[in-house]
Amino acid sequence: MRRTGRGRALWDWPVLMLLLGLGIVLFGSGLGLGVFVHERELVRELPADVPLFVMGLVLPAVILSAALFFTCTVRLRRELGNARKSVADLATLDELTGVPNRRHFFERFDEEVDRALRYGTRLSLIMVDIDHFSRTNAELGHPAGDLALAEVARLLAANIRTSDIIGRYGGEEFAILVPAQGLHTAAQVAEKLRVVIEINDLAMEGPRLKVTVSAGVAEFQKGEGSPEELRDRLIRDADTALARAKAGGRNRVATHGGNGQRQLRLI
Ligand code: GH3
Ligand code: MG
Ligand code: MG
Repeated sequence: MRRTGRGRALWDWPVLMLLLGLGIVLFGSGLGLGVFVHERELVRELPADVPLFVMGLVLPAVILSAALFFTCTVRLRRELGNARKSVADLATLDELTGVPNRRHFFERFDEEVDRALRYGTRLSLIMVDIDHFSRTNAELGHPAGDLALAEVARLLAANIRTSDIIGRYGGEEFAILVPAQGLHTAAQVAEKLRVVIEINDLAMEGPRLKVTVSAGVAEFQKGEGSPEELRDRLIRDADTALARAKAGGRNRVATHGGNGQRQLRLI
């Protein structure tokens, strides 16, 4: 049986059996019809066995082939669509966590910076980093660490708006762009995410794992420099805030700029 990309059959056995059954029925009725035509001498000019042959074999074969061709074409188109989607996902999504990879995140980032510059809209960035993750890996093993990482990504992605843009920035670090929002709102988003991670015990096989994250928040500032330089300045500002959140004891959100460089705690 022919198989396509991800090991799925191009046609199913039930479909094949159905077509085979149809072929047998058509062959039988064609044969009957041929005998009928032959006995009644309805087709005099042809040799006696031609109608038998034509109706009993060629006609069902043509119908069967057409049905097979149609079934396979439909299947093939569907498989092709799935394959195209897989390729697109591979190019844009991080394999472990399922969130956009760094390259795709930066493409979106540049688009948002362009938008902010062109229309004067606000734009904020949240950097999220898992606390003491090397300790988690050391205590539970790398595979468990991978599961925790994927779960944190899932929780982050599930708790932002569809207009927000998340990406896996580095190993256990995620970046979230909050378009059209300033520092204060982005800090509230970050604090909500921090709480969501904190209250969700990541259920693993074996020990229940406690994972917390720290976050740094900064708002995009227009000024001198190319869009890339302004983008990189925003990343630096968010990173600086993140470093302060870590230094301040972890499991917290810190902002850059605004009303001084303060640490935010909603609960
Ligand atoms: P901090 O609170 O200061 O962020 O401490 P940390 O231990 O999280 O930070 P550090 O940068 O020292 O370590 C990051 C760890 O994240 C080390 C690395 O093994 C782990 N890590 C990075 N990527 C992956 C991954 O894909 N899977 C797993 N399991 N671990 C990863
Ligand atoms: Mg960390
Ligand atoms: Mg880190």
